[in-house]
Order: sequence, then C-alpha cells, then structure tokens
Amino acid sequence: MKIKRQKQAKKTISFYKYNFSFREPFQILIDGTFCQAALKNKIQIKEQMPKYLMGEVQLCTTNCALKELESLGKELYGAKIILQRFQVRSCKHFKSPVPASECLLSMLEDTNPHHYFVATQDHEVTAGLKKIPGVPLLYIILNTIVLDKPSQSSLDHVQAVQMGELITPAQQQSIRSLKEEQGIGQNEGERRGKKRKRKQSNPNPLSCLKKKKKGLPTPSLKKTDGEKKRSRHRRRGKHGVESAPAAPVTS
Ligand SMILES: [Zn+2]
Repeated sequence: MKIKRQKQAKKTISFYKYNFSFREPFQILIDGTFCQAALKNKIQIKEQMPKYLMGEVQLCTTNCALKELESLGKELYGAKIILQRFQVRSCKHFKSPVPASECLLSMLEDTNPHHYFVATQDHEVTAGLKKIPGVPLLYIILNTIVLDKPSQSSLDHVQAVQMGELITPAQQQSIRSLKEEQGIGQNEGERRGKKRKRKQSNPNPLSCLKKKKKGLPTPSLKKTDGEKKRSRHRRRGKHGVESAPAAPVTS
C-alpha cells in the first residue's frame, strides 16, 4: 500500500512539475485543521512531508490561520504550537484577519502563481481549491498524508493548453513551409548540420597541432640538434684534427 501511495504521489507531483512549473522547494501552505489532524494521528509534518513528496519543502501558513486557531481556544492549542513553527506568509488581511478558509483561497488568487501546495482538512477550502487549476491538495486520511489526484479543473486546464499546442504546431508547419519556400528552413538545417560536423571535426586537428607543437617537435629538435651538434663537433673535431696538423705544415 505504501509503495502504491508513493507511486501515485510521484505521478501527481510530476504532473504539477510538468504542467504547472512546480519546483523544489515545494511551498506547502498549511492551516490549523491539518495540524490538528496531524497531531491526532501522530504525524510529524516536518519529517513526513519531504519524504512523501520526495523533495525539499517549505512549510508555511498565514497570520489569519494562526489567529483563527488562537480564537478557537484550548482544544486546538497543540495544533497552534505546530502551526507557529512554520513560516508566516503575508496575506492581504494584515489589519483585519479573516477566517483561515477565506485567507487560504485568497493566497492562491486565480492561478496559484506562487505554486502552493495546500494542506487542509477543511472541506470548504478543498471545494474552493478544486476550482482553481494547478493546486496540489494534501490531506490526512487513515493516519497518512495523501496528495490528492489532480482536480478536474487542473486536468481541463492542461487539456486546453494541449489543444492550444495542437493548433500552434499547425501554425508552425505553415511557418516551416513558408521558410522552406524561402530557403530559410533548409539553411538552418544545413547550418546546424555543419556546426555539428565542425564541432566533431575541429578538436581533432587542433589537438593534433598542439601535440605536434608541444610534444613532437621540441624533443625531436633537441635530439636532432644534439645529434647534429655532436656530429658537427665530431666532424669539426675530425676536421680540426685533420686541419691542425695541416696548419703548422703550411706555416
Ligand atoms: Zn489572511
């Protein structure tokens, strides 16, 4: 069951990564109801969340969510202590706090631009969240954290984008055909091909040249010089010896 749950989570996370540009560290917006459920089920959010989502996470909440927990009294004191440890993200309600459900929904705006995951047990919030495309939803059920499957609005959004992409390739094809008519597309292809060929062929002659300059010529020059010098000296010496006796004879 655990493996199945993890597999499903992985699939869902990659859905959000690919279609909605979610990146680590994942921003997890948490409310009091989730903390209360975690407390009841003895789930350590800080430990379990990164394990389950298989990545770095940033746990955060809002001032409104904290204020609401405070107002609910002693029963939720433990949940408040947990929630207090998370980063407080600034919301629009700094002067006059609103119910956490209202605040969380406002944090996501229409498109979830900050890529929040939302962790809540509040059905009012989840119902609202499911209308916004690209909001991963986390809740606790049967002693475990569960990442909900993408909502219908998320799926619809992705489908709409894909439909848009289906139209653009047709436009791209017409652009390609226009380019081909003008010979631009072909040139690009040739250039790319040539570049690749050059990249492959270039290093070889360069490295060969370097080897010749650095490696081969210097030792060969030294050796040949030495040999030549020695041979010249020997020859000169021989000549010298030959010429030396000849000189006094002439003088
Ligand atoms: Zn707020």
